[in-house]
Amino acid sequence: MSTYQNAHLLLSAAAPSQFPADHGAEVAIAGRSNAGKSSAINAMTGRRALARTSKLPGRTRLLNFFELAPQERLVDLPGYGYAEGPREQRHDWARLIEALSSRRSLRGLMLVIDARRGVQDSDEQLLAWAQQHERCVHVLLSKADQLRRSEGRALLASTQAQLSGRAAVQLFSVRDGTGIDEARARLAGWLQQEKAPAAR
Ligand code: GDP
Repeated sequence: MSTYQNAHLLLSAAAPSQFPADHGAEVAIAGRSNAGKSSAINAMTGRRALARTSKLPGRTRLLNFFELAPQERLVDLPGYGYAEGPREQRHDWARLIEALSSRRSLRGLMLVIDARRGVQDSDEQLLAWAQQHERCVHVLLSKADQLRRSEGRALLASTQAQLSGRAAVQLFSVRDGTGIDEARARLAGWLQQEKAPAAR
């Protein structure tokens, strides 16, 4: 079943001036490269190849805005790694997310973290950014199928303790379906909150 049957890439932005108009609602999604972000986007939207665009050569450092439904967007942030990247790229990335943070339509951030790695420094940087801008964060502990059930429960508890109220956390796997409904519900809940009106 397709959740967002008409989801499509709206635009890819290399600079804040290229962002779409700031009305409606949008949710950002971020994660380290290889954390499972593209797989999560595809699973949550019910569109198998939606996030492929984000991986095309030349697009990996852009902010990709997907329109899921009228006035409802998912903003795919470049997979970081940025903290280790060349200074210039780090600067570009910082500039893009600073601009994103001031958008009225931004409802929250989904952060995809590989369950086998746990919260890394680069994730902490993004959490700090969200806190600074008073943005809600929802963490997907991805590839949960790689853990035993008891390990998953323990990881969930320890991550909740580590984040201590800075974010909601859940287990997630596209392989065995763990937590997909929960993640979809959070995404839809955020996107359906009162929408920012169009600028006059
Ligand atoms: P991205 O770089 O963050 O967009 O990550 P991808 O979605 O491309 O996934 C990176 C790798 O992790 C790929 O080899 C995926 O097949 C694998 N992967 C993604 N989600 C899962 C999952 O739920 N379980 C397992 N076992 N592997 C996954």
